[in-house]
Amino acid sequence: MGRNEVAMLKATHVGQWIDGKAVAPSADARSMPVYDPARGEVARQVVFATDAQLDQALDAARAAFPGWAATPALRRARVMFRFKALVEEHADELAELVTREHGKVFSDSHGEITRGLEVVEFACGIPQLLKGEYSEQVGTGIDMYSIRQPLGVCAGITPFNFPVMVPMWMYPVALACGNTFVLKPSERDPSASLFVAELLREAGLPDGVFNVVHGDKHAVDRLLTDPRVDAVSFVGSTPIARYVHETAGAAGKRVQALGGAKNHMVVMPDADLDQAVDALIGAAYGSAGERCMAVSIAVAVGGVADALVERLAARVPGIRMADGMAEGAEMGPLVTGAHLEKVRSYVDIGVDEGAQLVVDGRTASVEGGGFFLGGCLFDHVTPQMRIYREEIFGPVLGVVRVETFEQAVQLVNAHEFGNGAAVFTRDGDAAREFANRVQIGMVGVNVPIPVPMAFHSFGGWKSSLFGDHHIHGPEGVRFYTRYKAVTQRWPTGIRSGAEFVMPTMK
Ligand code: NAD
Repeated sequence: MGRNEVAMLKATHVGQWIDGKAVAPSADARSMPVYDPARGEVARQVVFATDAQLDQALDAARAAFPGWAATPALRRARVMFRFKALVEEHADELAELVTREHGKVFSDSHGEITRGLEVVEFACGIPQLLKGEYSEQVGTGIDMYSIRQPLGVCAGITPFNFPVMVPMWMYPVALACGNTFVLKPSERDPSASLFVAELLREAGLPDGVFNVVHGDKHAVDRLLTDPRVDAVSFVGSTPIARYVHETAGAAGKRVQALGGAKNHMVVMPDADLDQAVDALIGAAYGSAGERCMAVSIAVAVGGVADALVERLAARVPGIRMADGMAEGAEMGPLVTGAHLEKVRSYVDIGVDEGAQLVVDGRTASVEGGGFFLGGCLFDHVTPQMRIYREEIFGPVLGVVRVETFEQAVQLVNAHEFGNGAAVFTRDGDAAREFANRVQIGMVGVNVPIPVPMAFHSFGGWKSSLFGDHHIHGPEGVRFYTRYKAVTQRWPTGIRSGAEFVMPTMK
């Protein structure tokens, strides 16, 4: 195998992947440190693509498009089948790369690979998914059919928190539909994308069809405005999602931009409390709260609050914090020191705002340093507080107390974000009413993180998504293709006899 994963883990500089090969980092390019968050040390540098390299990547993607688009869907699907097998074969190395740069525990890294692979599996069915519709005899002797054709070059701009899965929400569907792709992953955990690029090449993807460029706003701005890009998929925080949607939209591109979240879990008085507490521990503190589907607000309805807070308070300090590669680790560090400081400052803000800090994780530490913050639990959070309104993206859960189901629904609906929400109850009527009335893209009933499967589409409402299409699944196929309707009539030919003259071959 030409690839050397161990070398990559130890690589001091992470460069680009352009036109089917790794491109050595340019000496005069800007770079940024990539941390080992479990130790709090710089592990390597990510070297940003120069303008010339961005041009090369876009040219390569443009040049590869006609050939890839003309490749039968069945053959494009076969590349996806081989890619899936290769990712499975190398899942341990890929998961280790994720844990070493992101910090999440090894089993979580495996989990994100599994969820991402489900999108690859979906994309393997592309010949079926691209089938159009046919109407016979829409007029006398006239038939009509529809086809879906690829767009061209698609760009993907992705966040740090799922360095394998979120790009997989995009490129498997985009590529299977016949597009070429330029990925700009998060500069905070850049290595996994290069590994994936090598696996795609090994799976038989032609050169230039998939490219990886690193960078920050400068590279993103190029992708949003360059005429060689036809569509942009973005996942990240809300201010940047809004900016991406406006900028790429103004440049005439198709855009889907998924933003931040503040997901609520409503606990009704009749809920199975053990189940609800288990769910909250996983959903609020899993991956140190760095998930767009993390539950960060528990809404305790009626008399359930005291018992809920008491049980949570007993569980949170016991969450085993350690290096994500350590046996039995339940929660790893935050991604960078800067992010740790931001999350910690929100805990200070919550105290100043008057919320009751029931569990204070600020003093928890792990031997060997690292960007660790213990799980924090606030009670008596109110909707006016910043810790309620703003996305913290760390292991901080707030409990809001309300009297009625009606107040809980209003609370959820009044929030700026609309990514996910869950209700825990034994009452089918309350659950049904909740699912029907909440202004939220993904709803869970006794399910804490209602992440749709790959064959459905993922996305929120309100400030959690800008654009018309949710990501992956059927909406992904629609996003990455253009609809064409063909109306056809044929002149009377051979079957009418007399007029038909066989063309002569010269
Ligand atoms: P981020 O917005 O800081 O970065 C996302 C991407 O945008 C990165 O590739 C980054 O390089 C780029 N970027 C950053 N600043 C930019 C700027 N000023 N101009 C142009 N591009 C810029 O997000 P993050 O911190 O990496 O990820 C966490 C965020 O992503 C959270 O808000 C989380 O909720 C969100 N997220 C949302 C979903 C979803 O499905 N809605 C999924 C995962 C993460």
